Amino acid sequence: MNKTIAPFARHLYVMLKPVGSICNLDCSYCYYLEKENLYANTAKHFMSEELLERFIKDYLRSQTKAEVLFTWHGGEALMRPIKFYQKALDLQKKYGGGRPIDNSIQTNGVLLTDEWCEFFKRNNFLVGISIDGPREFHDKHRRSKQGHSTFDQVMRGVELLKKHQVEFNAMAVINSDNVKHPLEVYNFFKEIGCQFIQFSPIVERISGNDNGLKFSSPTESGIAEVAPYTVDPDEFANFYIKIFDEWVRKDVGSIYIQLFDSTLANWVGQPPGVCTLAKTCGHAGVMEFNGDVYSCDHFVYPEFKIGNIYSQNLTSMMYSDKQQRFGNSKFTSLPRQCRECRYLFACYGECPKNRFITDKYGEPGLNYLCNGFYKFFDHVRPYMDYMKEEYENQRPPANVMSWVNRGMK
Ligand code: SF4
Ligand code: SF4
Repeated sequence: MNKTIAPFARHLYVMLKPVGSICNLDCSYCYYLEKENLYANTAKHFMSEELLERFIKDYLRSQTKAEVLFTWHGGEALMRPIKFYQKALDLQKKYGGGRPIDNSIQTNGVLLTDEWCEFFKRNNFLVGISIDGPREFHDKHRRSKQGHSTFDQVMRGVELLKKHQVEFNAMAVINSDNVKHPLEVYNFFKEIGCQFIQFSPIVERISGNDNGLKFSSPTESGIAEVAPYTVDPDEFANFYIKIFDEWVRKDVGSIYIQLFDSTLANWVGQPPGVCTLAKTCGHAGVMEFNGDVYSCDHFVYPEFKIGNIYSQNLTSMMYSDKQQRFGNSKFTSLPRQCRECRYLFACYGECPKNRFITDKYGEPGLNYLCNGFYKFFDHVRPYMDYMKEEYENQRPPANVMSWVNRGMK
């Protein structure tokens, strides 16, 4: 299974922020840039090598499985030099005891060079690259600090990854613009030779509080003001349905789309490759540049800090009561509409960060995208049923393509 697409399905997993939220771009919808304000009194938002060593030693010690995944995230992770990551690899070897270790890194692609790509290839990194689709959609929100287009630079990065045969996947933020153009977006990724695609729908609320953060914490209830680039639930459903209809006719088994894979996993009773569709979560933390550990990358708010690696080890933080409660509440806090939903097994209310509307019974905690998810699951149901049948009879689920092309007979 693709490494970046599935990290949250693993045991103890903590993503790293080697430059905190510092980035060379200024994407309008970024939920992480403003985390800088949480550390306004810290001069340098760079992880020290001493902290790096402490983390690697502890992280390897706390794993319950032989295989270990390190994920380097930002901000922009390439704002640290290659020698920082070489040091990390040396430390992984030093403390890894010969176990298999994978590395994945998320980047906006602008700083990629031949040297970076040679390094990634040599060390078997999986690179996640952020692109929002064709130029007009990408440049709408993903711009430089000076407000300039970044599309050409990112595409140059993609070409370098391909030239050096680095394994990569695409992460596309689905916003109020590109959501209206599903097939243009999908075909773009196919044309640039990307086999693994992760679409990430944007749902943000503008906060009314004064903690220095523009976006609402997930603990704030009510709609407040939805950020203008937030996807509309119906358009979100339409986006996925249009792409699914194309995929199910032509691309099953050759193009991997995170939502489709995870939906099928839930349909056949396997753990989904993404936390948002799992029954519970909470085993995917994040460590900031100074050692602060938070419950999840989407919950980097003071109330979701679970400790600091200088005073507690990762095991005690990630298996603490607070973190267990955080993970279990994904299921235990579901409102009645979800508990009664026929697609509960596939959706589980999706991510708690998006649960800020009331359900049809007036209970709080329904997902803002509920309507979209429901429509999507309703649409894919016969295809998922068919793929499940194939899977259970040890036949390839990709047989669904010929079934569909025969008119579902
Ligand atoms: S809060 Fe959302 S993103 Fe975070 S681990 Fe849970 S489901 Fe995943
Ligand atoms: S589709 Fe809606 S009601 Fe059903 S589980 Fe998902 S969020 Fe809840």
